[in-house]
Amino acid sequence: MSTKYIFFTGGVVSSVGKGVTASAIGRILKERGFAVAVQKLDPYINVDPGTMSPYQHGEVYVLDDGAETDLDLGHYERFIDISLNRVCNVTTGQVYADVIAKERRGDYLGGTIQVIPHITNEIKRRIGLVAKTTGAEIVIVEVGGTVGDIESLPFLEALRQMRSDIGRQNTMYVHVTWLPYIGATQELKTKPTQHSVRELRSIGITPDMIIARSDLEVDEDLCKKIALFCDVERRAVVPMVTTDLLYEVPLTLEGLGVGEYILERLGIKARRKPEWEPWKKLVTETRRQKPTVEIALVGKYVELHDAYMSVREAISHAALAEGVEANIRWVHSAELEKGNCWEILKEAQGIVVPGGFGSRGTEGKILAARYARENKIPYLGLCLGMQLMVVEFGRTIFKTDRVNSTEFDRSTPYPVIDLMPDQRGIADLGGTMRLGLYPCELQPGTISAEAYGVELVQERHRHRFEFNNAYRKPYEDAGMRFSGISPDGRLVEIAEIADHPFMLGTQFHPEFLSRPNRPHPLFVGLIKAVKEQAGL
Ligand code: GLN
Repeated sequence: MSTKYIFFTGGVVSSVGKGVTASAIGRILKERGFAVAVQKLDPYINVDPGTMSPYQHGEVYVLDDGAETDLDLGHYERFIDISLNRVCNVTTGQVYADVIAKERRGDYLGGTIQVIPHITNEIKRRIGLVAKTTGAEIVIVEVGGTVGDIESLPFLEALRQMRSDIGRQNTMYVHVTWLPYIGATQELKTKPTQHSVRELRSIGITPDMIIARSDLEVDEDLCKKIALFCDVERRAVVPMVTTDLLYEVPLTLEGLGVGEYILERLGIKARRKPEWEPWKKLVTETRRQKPTVEIALVGKYVELHDAYMSVREAISHAALAEGVEANIRWVHSAELEKGNCWEILKEAQGIVVPGGFGSRGTEGKILAARYARENKIPYLGLCLGMQLMVVEFGRTIFKTDRVNSTEFDRSTPYPVIDLMPDQRGIADLGGTMRLGLYPCELQPGTISAEAYGVELVQERHRHRFEFNNAYRKPYEDAGMRFSGISPDGRLVEIAEIADHPFMLGTQFHPEFLSRPNRPHPLFVGLIKAVKEQAGL
């Protein structure tokens, strides 16, 4: 079969859950036996989100190949259980950088470089790369932002052209919109959806399906009205009511016949019957009343929960597998420094310190690590959370608060965390960290080896600093075990405290490999330790 494309656009407002909807539809198609990949087109000019503040953008999601991508790629990978690659996140910045580089090389032989066709051709080339590099038969493409934004126009124009390039039977346009509720008259309004569709049609794209998001039930009359005014079949109007449980969305859309409609529209037949039992179990198990465990997440971007999307997910996956509900308590690390929020930390049965950059709040994270170690509270440190656990331990060994990472104190007399040698002299901040999958050998008899149950693992990384090997000996003597080491013996990948039920830090980001049906072993290890202490 020729590659099929499903294009997702958003209307009315942003944050309507386009990413989750696209992921859910990906799952629905995978359940029918198709190889699926998802690509996100982001209209901003940054080359990737790697240099953006988490406040601007939420989490930076890292792929196997080290691409720093939009957090929607995390949804795609988790929902569909696939591994994507760097062509799956395209930004305006990448497209222009490429076209301008070609122009400078003289590749255009004197031509005038224009948005149409040069930019749009580059966008289409990158869309084409997804099937080539992933082997996907169905490629879902999500355009970031909202229809009507100036900056997404070249992307939409490229998508429009694709229908004539490869034919109607190979392309489908899905528009995700929002139905606002007017309290005074107690009704949902379709007008913004109508306007958004009109806007889309004015640039030459006629949607084949409208997914109407809403906080309230959408009745039949309203669906008919949307069908009539937006010129889609009634069957292609899909009301999607807000849910507190994202993993329910594939089942909801399946129940509304979305899978069958898409297949019919693209002229393909399911290869197998969907096997929804495991998903249904996941949803019922999540909904079931379970004992709760309190997990403190000590970070510096806690006001924006999206900044820790994958960490949050990984905690819930592990909790679910362990038959408990994890109640995540957000603790601002800078507040701990001021003596605030300690009551939340003290109520926590487990502590997670996630990754981060820059010095703000690091002392608070060190205090959290100290509290966890001294009180034997299960602790999982992720990247920076591992580095600061190492700093804390060093401050105890060497009895001075001057022990630090050179990221925060360049002239520390105890640089226990230091810049990796190949990071020295790097001036550009974008895409230059140690990124992506690297192997890690587990040392027998450690908590990590037991949790993983294998000898060698591959994990995703995103860092510049590392444990300074000059300190391995004093640390080991004081009771730290380096339970995960790179196969060449050079890099500490996991550190753990020997005399502690579960205090472990990883230089990598295990959260990126956790899946709803396959929780990450180290997060499971944390929850198990919490349960054990709680007598659950
Ligand atoms: N800032 C630290 C480093 O660059 C940690 C990075 C992270 O937590 N992702 O090594």
